[in-house]
Amino acid sequence: MADVILVLNAGSSSIKFSAFDAESQDLALVLRGQIEGLFSAPRFLAFDQSGEQLGVKEWGAAARLEHESAIAYIGEFLRSHRGGNRLIAVGHRVVHGGRHFTQPALATTEVLDELDKLAPLAPLHQVHNLKPIRIIATQNPAMPQVACFDTAFHATQGELAYAFALPESITSRGVRRYGFHGLSYEYIAKALPHISPEAANGRTVVAHLGNGASMCAMLGGRSVASTMGFTAVDGLPMGTRCGNLDPGVILYLFDELGMNAREVEDLVYRRSGLLGVSGISSDMRTLLASDDARARFAIELYTYRIGRELGSLVAALDGLDALVFTAGIGERSAEIRRRVAEKARWCGIELDENANAADGPRISAASSKVGVWVIPTNEELMIARHTRNLIGAH
Ligand code: ADP
Repeated sequence: MADVILVLNAGSSSIKFSAFDAESQDLALVLRGQIEGLFSAPRFLAFDQSGEQLGVKEWGAAARLEHESAIAYIGEFLRSHRGGNRLIAVGHRVVHGGRHFTQPALATTEVLDELDKLAPLAPLHQVHNLKPIRIIATQNPAMPQVACFDTAFHATQGELAYAFALPESITSRGVRRYGFHGLSYEYIAKALPHISPEAANGRTVVAHLGNGASMCAMLGGRSVASTMGFTAVDGLPMGTRCGNLDPGVILYLFDELGMNAREVEDLVYRRSGLLGVSGISSDMRTLLASDDARARFAIELYTYRIGRELGSLVAALDGLDALVFTAGIGERSAEIRRRVAEKARWCGIELDENANAADGPRISAASSKVGVWVIPTNEELMIARHTRNLIGAH
């Protein structure tokens, strides 16, 4: 019977899970999967480390599955899988750690109470991230649980990078830039010394381009600036989020269009970005395959804005030694990387076309002044590592 660490990433209607062998030195993946559509047509899928399907279950179109039952199902599947596994700890992805949680933390009741207070700073994620922690604490109070924060990696940023130009009466309440996708950036920072010492030690911009998207400027592997700010809606346009927006637009939506706060929230988080601009889809593959002029414009805007943000981060770093692409679009779309690189020729970036088509790892030409890399991220493994470290196992 193997000791495993379970990693959960819970959203409003889905729970992603991965289990890692806590006895293997590099935390080998045992299985991973998800339950999606919790409140309409729930569906469980699990795969082994090589992508072979291990299990599938559907509850029917009319069924609803509460988070409690979903977690119990995942736990039972894990315990009974292949001769049985013994769950020794659970690590959770928690989007916001606020000012105080700059390291992963054991999820005690006091910690959870503090984290609850950050819900308004991440309205789409925080409550859902915390829910499974409380459920497991009730079902199994002795189980060690660790909360790992998407903000924590950015705690090294200086005051200038995180300050808003607002009065202190506002900023003293924690209204500042935090930055997100920190578990992904931390994984990349830890991987870089093995891949490119120059990128690990130098001035590096990492572009995490998934459904959510952001970029991080790192100096010697530490975050010095990022495109996401107070919330995860800032910075680059994303699948459905708008990214940077003049605050005057929000006032216009309130005053002239009569929208309320929830309607604006829905607009900027769920109806904007690639989906909003194209009117077709939030999925980059669909847009790249489309001949529609709106799809083309959405992609143009996406890469233009990445180029602009890259310029800003290069200024924050006072130069650039390496650029790293990661997450769904960054890892798999040679076309998007090509377009971004084209807009970044001014800073000495030249791609090797063949290496780019093959998804790297190094995709810059020998003559490029900046090393360009494709590095697959692994936020779940990062959470498992933190969890093992914090519970002091093995
Ligand atoms: P999440 O942020 O939800 O973890 P991912 O990192 O998986 O998401 O990224 C999802 C995005 O990656 C989607 O826009 C999807 O279209 C895009 N993507 C995945 N594979 C490809 C591909 N081969 N070419 C272009 N885009 C891709």
